[in-house]
Amino acid sequence: MIDFHCHLDLYANPLLTMHGSEETGTGVLSVTTTPSAWHGTSRLSRDSNMIRTAIGLHPQLARARKSELEIFDRCLEETRFVGEVGLDGSPEYLEFWNDQLHVFEHILASCGEAGGKILSVHSRRAVTPVLDYLGKHSASVPILHWFSGSKSELRRAIELGCWFSVGPGMLAGAKGRALVGAMPHERVLLETDGPFVHIKGNPAQPWDVRAVSARIADVWGIDAAEASQQVDANEKILLGG
Ligand code: MN
Repeated sequence: MIDFHCHLDLYANPLLTMHGSEETGTGVLSVTTTPSAWHGTSRLSRDSNMIRTAIGLHPQLARARKSELEIFDRCLEETRFVGEVGLDGSPEYLEFWNDQLHVFEHILASCGEAGGKILSVHSRRAVTPVLDYLGKHSASVPILHWFSGSKSELRRAIELGCWFSVGPGMLAGAKGRALVGAMPHERVLLETDGPFVHIKGNPAQPWDVRAVSARIADVWGIDAAEASQQVDANEKILLGG
C-alpha cells in the first residue's frame, strides 16, 4: 500500500518515519511545498525503493515562492511526481490569488511539455478553478488530494480523469464520507497528509493508510480485504507496474 500524500520532510524525525515505512512495506509519495526543498528531501530517501519524492510549490506559498519556478523547471526532469501543487480559495490566501493562478498554470504547462507526470493536487475551496486549469492541460495525471468539493464538482473531476487520494481527514466527517461513497472505486488511492493530520493525538504515519483502507471499506459496504485489493490494483494501474 502507498501513502500518496505525505510530507516526509516536515516530521520531527523524518528518518523514523522513513524506516517505519520500510519495515511495514508502505510506499510513500513524499510531497514537498517548495521547489528548493526538493533536492534535500529526495536525498533523504535516496537509498529507499519505497519512497518517491514529488517536487511541489504549495498554493499557500505561491506569493512567497513564485521566484522558485525556475528551480521547479530545472528539477522537473528528475522526477515523475509533482506535488503539492494546486489552488487554495480560502479567504486568507485570496489576497494573492493571481500569484496562485500564475504558479499553477506555469507548473501545469511545464508538466504538459515534459509529459507523463503524476500530480498531487490541493483544491481546498477552489475545486472549480482547479478543474478548469486541469481541463486545459490534460497531459498530466492529477490526483486530487483531500477532495472537499460538491457532488457535481466530483462528477466533473471524474469525467476529467482525476484520481482521488483519501485520508483520515476526509473520513472524519459525514460530507467527506459521502464523497468517498460516490467515488468510482477504481480511482481511489490512500493518503495520510501527515504530519499535519493527527490520529489519536499523534501525527499520522504512512502505515496508517491500512486503517484508512479499512474505513473506506466500511463506507463502500465491502469487506476490508476487498477494499485493499482494489486499492492495490489501482496503484498498479496508475504507476503502470
Ligand atoms: Mn498536504
